[in-house]
Amino acid sequence: MALEKEAKRMAAEFEYSKDDLNRGVQHFMTEMREGLGKTGGHISQIPTYVTAVPNGTEKGTFLAVDLGGTNFRVCSITLHGNHTFSLTQSKVAVPRTLMETQVAAELFSFLAKQIENFLKTHHNDHFETHKAKPGQVAYFDLGFTFSFPVEQVGINKGALVRWTKGFSIQEAIGKDVCELLQKEIDALNLPVKVSALVNDTVGTLMARSYTSPGKESTLIGAIFGTGTNGAYVERLSNIKKMKDIDEKQGGANYDTTTGLMVINTEWGSFDNALKVLPDTPYDRALDKESNNPGIQMFEKRVSGMFLGEILRRAMLALHNSDNSNASFLKDKTSADNDLTTTTVIEPDSALFKQWGIDTSFLSIVEEDQSDHLRITKQVLEKDLGIQAAATEDAIAIKMLVHAVGKRAARLAAVALGAVILETKRLETDGFVDIGVDGSLVEYYPGFEDYIREAFRETQGIGEEGEKKIRIGLAKDGSGLGAALIALTAHDAEKP
Ligand code: ADP
Ligand code: MG
Repeated sequence: MALEKEAKRMAAEFEYSKDDLNRGVQHFMTEMREGLGKTGGHISQIPTYVTAVPNGTEKGTFLAVDLGGTNFRVCSITLHGNHTFSLTQSKVAVPRTLMETQVAAELFSFLAKQIENFLKTHHNDHFETHKAKPGQVAYFDLGFTFSFPVEQVGINKGALVRWTKGFSIQEAIGKDVCELLQKEIDALNLPVKVSALVNDTVGTLMARSYTSPGKESTLIGAIFGTGTNGAYVERLSNIKKMKDIDEKQGGANYDTTTGLMVINTEWGSFDNALKVLPDTPYDRALDKESNNPGIQMFEKRVSGMFLGEILRRAMLALHNSDNSNASFLKDKTSADNDLTTTTVIEPDSALFKQWGIDTSFLSIVEEDQSDHLRITKQVLEKDLGIQAAATEDAIAIKMLVHAVGKRAARLAAVALGAVILETKRLETDGFVDIGVDGSLVEYYPGFEDYIREAFRETQGIGEEGEKKIRIGLAKDGSGLGAALIALTAHDAEKP
């Protein structure tokens, strides 16, 4: 009983009340406006130069490539104009040597070569005709999903800020990545134009907007995966900093007639000052020992990369607690069956290692309805090297898991709810559509339900508003989304 009480007390530290939630939403709206006004706020609010959102009637065939880390994906997407599409794709691992080469052209010519191979395999007629009679066939528009930090200055223009995820090609930093790719495509004489540089959240927004039923377009694309981020449709007139940005570019280099632009919020760094975010001892320790203390504070409480680590720190605190009655993962006599269990934690257990627990562990425990939490005990043994955990231990873990997961979902609702309220779409539109992607939102049991519960508690949304919000998974966001952005880029170019 003492253990259960102690676990309950710790779980309560993760509670994010209705008042907290509403304060969070208000502060998020404030930071949204700040980010639209100037560069360098907590929420960056980066203009994407995407000025229209699809409604499902779009048609045509487009190419998309995705350089995200380990793999390079090439695909062609045919939009049928009725919310459906077909997709053909190939995937290759990027050779380690090319990630660390001195010469940027080596990486980009490898990428262009993969595009050539893809065309030869899947669009050979087009490819051959172009070779024989250049100018006879139309160019494919290509959307380039590039998941590294770039400073975008046009729909297909963006300078690489820095490499992440194991890449380090000094020469490419500061260069326009679309131009680097186009140069190598041209060297191979391929009928391909790099038309759009794409962030994965914007791809998610576009993909959902195309596939969702009805004529209405989607408002938000949100990722809850390794990290978290969101993009949404903003009125151009609200993006106050656009005037300065345009001036630097010598005038607006995008279609202004729609009066809209998709904004990449970079909401992972919402409230880095911790004015409204919850902050437990476990959050503080995680941040302190991370490689970027003090930044991405919202992401550190919400996304897949971190939830396992928050849980691990809470479990460890419970294990090391000097409250001897609350013995956790230690030998104990079970009230269950009056048997003494001898729990063994292997010395190199992941419980003792930073980042030792993957967030998929939380999903399994949250889902577990088995007798005496048998499944939880099994994963404890398999993933954490903890043998013969008592049922009381498993119950305590489940309480902590639930607390960490539910808090993440309620914080996700802060971001989504703030965008819904700030854009006033509930007032102007019949309903609001949100596209989501990422393993956390896809697999964590009840993640959407907890978001919805929080929506009902949010002033300005409430019971009525919540019913008008649709949330849908946007699969293939990076391929389909990039194709759709290539399409809008192409259309915008027409006189
Ligand atoms: P990415 O964000 O890199 O595109 P994903 O959307 O697959 O990739 O997210 C990966 C993250 O999701 C990892 O942090 C991982 O811990 C977490 N994750 C993977 N499987 C699950 C699961 N079943 N439940 C919850 N989180 C998961
Ligand atoms: Mg992803």
